[in-house]
Amino acid sequence: MNSTKKNPKFLAASHLGSLGRQLRFAGFDCYIIGEESTKPNSSLPPIEEEERYFLTRSRRPFPEKLEKQTLRLQSTNLEEQMLEIALNVELRETFVPFTRCTLCNAPLKKISSDEAKNHIPDQIFHTYRDFRQCPNCRRIYWKGDHFNRMLKRWKKIFEEISKEKECQLDFSEKAR
Ligand SMILES: [Zn+2]
Repeated sequence: MNSTKKNPKFLAASHLGSLGRQLRFAGFDCYIIGEESTKPNSSLPPIEEEERYFLTRSRRPFPEKLEKQTLRLQSTNLEEQMLEIALNVELRETFVPFTRCTLCNAPLKKISSDEAKNHIPDQIFHTYRDFRQCPNCRRIYWKGDHFNRMLKRWKKIFEEISKEKECQLDFSEKAR
């Protein structure tokens, strides 16, 4: 599988829901299996046509065509799973947080503070200026503590990746 592909898309197994939401936060299109039953407007994408990465911890073999798109994760720990993906798929180049609804995967729309005003606490209205809304579930997003925590988590992952890459470079330098 080409690991330098632009704008990677994902399909997460139902046991990887938290990971799927992390990917959405980072701006990546990620369907989560099982969610379509709770969300009337969503259905599973045609994975083979779209070249989505299928994320799973299952060891079960899949049909060959699907197998080629499957990333089998080892860890049960969320941050380690994020690292596993980032090691296999180029995420940094297309990392755009604050652009996708973590709940339903829809791209977010920018809205004015006035449009957000009646739907958010007063304190939030007075503290933040940049608001986005999901056109599907209507949830409103702003860059508050939750956003910063998620962003920090991804930054840590990308720092880890840089370290890994440096190690690989050192090793190949020495091996010469
Ligand atoms: Zn939504």
